[in-house]
Amino acid sequence: MGGYGSGRYFRYNTKCTVEDCRSVDANDFARWKMFREGQRYTSTRWTLGDRETGSCGVITQIGDGLTCCAFLFNNRRVPVALSWYAPGYGGRRYFFLCPVCHRRVRTLHFKGRELACRICHNLTYKSCNESHSFDRLYMHMAESFHRDGKGVSWTAVKWYMRNMIRSVNKRPRRPRGRPKKCR
Ligand SMILES: [Zn+2]
Repeated sequence: MGGYGSGRYFRYNTKCTVEDCRSVDANDFARWKMFREGQRYTSTRWTLGDRETGSCGVITQIGDGLTCCAFLFNNRRVPVALSWYAPGYGGRRYFFLCPVCHRRVRTLHFKGRELACRICHNLTYKSCNESHSFDRLYMHMAESFHRDGKGVSWTAVKWYMRNMIRSVNKRPRRPRGRPKKCR
């Protein structure tokens, strides 16, 4: 087994992570008021750091009998059915129906040109991939801290980094008056 820097790090995992793919979130669309009555159009873009990794157009058609949306991605139009229910606090809560398995899902992912849910894409969340893929990096970091006198365990580095990543990625708070999400 080579040490850190031998190149092992930069191999792709065989399973694509959710973050590697481009995703669309029904909650975001709700926040963008895309699920209001009538036809609406917007575009969404994905970024990785400062770099744009892609964009797609979104059309929603909300009416009494007809609720659907379509994604315009790579010159293709992918229609997606919507599902909704009326929660206690009023209004409607919308979900996508996965175009492949028709499961009701909050997020859909583009992998290549295919749009489907996480299960169909056989994705794993980065958080579980992450649990070991960076261990050797953390060990390396802990080693370099050692040189400055006081030692640090690599698990402490991992814990610190994980919390930092979490606080950076923290989603904005939901609007007040909504119940807590329970699964
Ligand atoms: Zn699916």
